[in-house]
Amino acid sequence: MATYNAPINDMMFLFEKLRNNKHYNELEKYKEVGPDLAKDILEQAAKMTENLILPLAKIGDENPAKFENGAVRTPPGYKETYKKFIEDGWTSLSCDPEYGGQGMPKTISAFFDEMLSSASLSFKLYSELSIGAYNCILRHGVDSIKKKFLPNMVKGIWSGTMCLTEPVCGTDLGLLKTKAIEQSDGTFKLSGQKIFITSGDHDLTENIIHLVLARALDAPAGTKGISLFLVPKIQIEDDGSLGQRNGVSTGSIESKMGIKGSATCVLNFDGAVGYMIGPKNKGLSSMFTMMNLERIVVGIQGLGISEIAYQNALNYSKERKQGKSNNTQSTNGADAIIDHADIRRSLLNMKSMIEGERALSFWLAQQTEVSLYHSDSKIKQQAADLVSLMTPVVKSLFTDMGMEITSDAMQIFGGYGYTKDQGIEQLYRDNRITPIYEGTNSVQAIDLVFRKLINKNGNIIGYYTQLIKRGIVESTKSEETKLFAETLNKHLEVLIDFTAWIEKSMTNSKDDVGAACNDYLRVLGLVSVGYSWLKVLDISFKEMKNNKKFFMDKIETARFFFDRILPRIDTHYKSGISGSKNIMKFNFN
Ligand SMILES: Cc1cc2nc3c(=O)[nH]c(=O)nc-3n(C[C@H](O)[C@H](O)[C@H](O)COP(=O)(O)OP(=O)(O)OC[C@H]3O[C@@H](n4cnc5c(N)ncnc54)[C@H](O)[C@@H]3O)c2cc1C
Repeated sequence: MATYNAPINDMMFLFEKLRNNKHYNELEKYKEVGPDLAKDILEQAAKMTENLILPLAKIGDENPAKFENGAVRTPPGYKETYKKFIEDGWTSLSCDPEYGGQGMPKTISAFFDEMLSSASLSFKLYSELSIGAYNCILRHGVDSIKKKFLPNMVKGIWSGTMCLTEPVCGTDLGLLKTKAIEQSDGTFKLSGQKIFITSGDHDLTENIIHLVLARALDAPAGTKGISLFLVPKIQIEDDGSLGQRNGVSTGSIESKMGIKGSATCVLNFDGAVGYMIGPKNKGLSSMFTMMNLERIVVGIQGLGISEIAYQNALNYSKERKQGKSNNTQSTNGADAIIDHADIRRSLLNMKSMIEGERALSFWLAQQTEVSLYHSDSKIKQQAADLVSLMTPVVKSLFTDMGMEITSDAMQIFGGYGYTKDQGIEQLYRDNRITPIYEGTNSVQAIDLVFRKLINKNGNIIGYYTQLIKRGIVESTKSEETKLFAETLNKHLEVLIDFTAWIEKSMTNSKDDVGAACNDYLRVLGLVSVGYSWLKVLDISFKEMKNNKKFFMDKIETARFFFDRILPRIDTHYKSGISGSKNIMKFNFN
């Protein structure tokens, strides 16, 4: 079984030292949330994830969720752990105190998301969609709905789902068929089939609150005719007690490559009672509240799985002895594989990506809070634009890197990685869904390039590159960070050139742009991780005397990133701007 130690040191470093974010620090809401409280929460979270949740990963993989007699049973141990999980208040961590939440910022809850993803993604998914559904209802529901549903969702005794996908409608939600017929009392009756619904049914909570996209009878075709409905598995009486079973049933659950402990369900809606959330025919934009936050969390899933894969590969490389390294004097026996240059390169590849991603994700958590709660509407909008720009980047880059890192970790284990014993191949299988769900990574790249770079609020990418430029100028002033800043600047210029090429090609050939999207997302992602590393370097050089070992580790890890990972940008740029003529003309027959 894979082992795991929550990286609290690194998380606390970010929380304490990268806090110097003016607009985030202006938020009244989080003035009281200081490092002591954060440390306390993270230590408790580490205990929970390391001791109780980690063992569920293997159990869930070997005893997948089951569908029996029309109901779903979660793997052994899930029920008991979930009970403790909600008793300890973990579902309420980032929720609003008005509905019973603890009101903690995403700068803390994102770390908890990472720990859960490292320990067991399958177990995490049972509460993850609930938080997404909670956020959507909080933002778009009327007061009576919020009062009726949110407190029990915050407590975790009711869970939530997100029901978009149908048999012929995946990426293209315009094809959606589920119907909603309005009733005389203002409720709706929904009929249709949803597939691939995460936690669509299970035995952990007494009720499940489905958020369902459907089409009202007189709605226009395509995405402009989609509304959002709340459909409880069990109806709620006026006094808040559980009433009759609603017209939602589970048809089956999927047999999958990974995340086997998570139930992925076919749900049939047969005249199920639903309540419209948000305005009619604007359901997609309401659902995007849930999907956008979820996409960032899926990126964090990739980060969490990368972290545990790295930790295990590192431990194994210290134990496994094979071959003689070039640097040891020993004459008998073999050296630990960590002494070989290529294994060290692979480990640093993982470590420098993971720590850079964590710093980027921390910054994004700060921006998300500013976008939600800052009192100045201009600052709020700027932060919202940055979050919108970076959401597809974090979702795709972190999950794609999760594939690279889990694969490389397996490689370090050699044949023992491919076999089941060490739990490494499970990480690879579990991570494989993350580039697919919540909108595939290619679709994220298309979204980024066609919709996010420039929008009605202006030139978002221009604003972001200027922000990085200012950071570079600051770092160039110090002799210690100057070289790093100059290197990042060179790559930022490539991003700027690539952006100009995209803008020009947008009018000449949309296929050229479509074929370049993935490369562009990678360039923007790597520049962003580089920018995060530059901030970490600024602090590391300044604080060196306080903890030499920790900060030297940071500087050398950053050096690897700048020397060995940032240059990938050049290849992506060259590949991206090569156009699409031969791609589109190619005859696949
Ligand atoms: C384990 C699991 C859990 C899931 N959980 C949920 C859930 O809780 N709720 C829910 O609603 N759904 C859920 N899904 C569904 C998931 O979000 C979809 O599978 C995903 O969005 C892709 O849709 P699709 O499978 O229909 O693929 P398609 O949309 O058919 O895409 C197939 C391929 O075509 C590409 N493609 C599609 N359109 C374009 C385009 N315009 N341009 C270029 N390429 C394109 C895609 O990138 C992909 O590579 C889950 C799926 C799985 C497997």
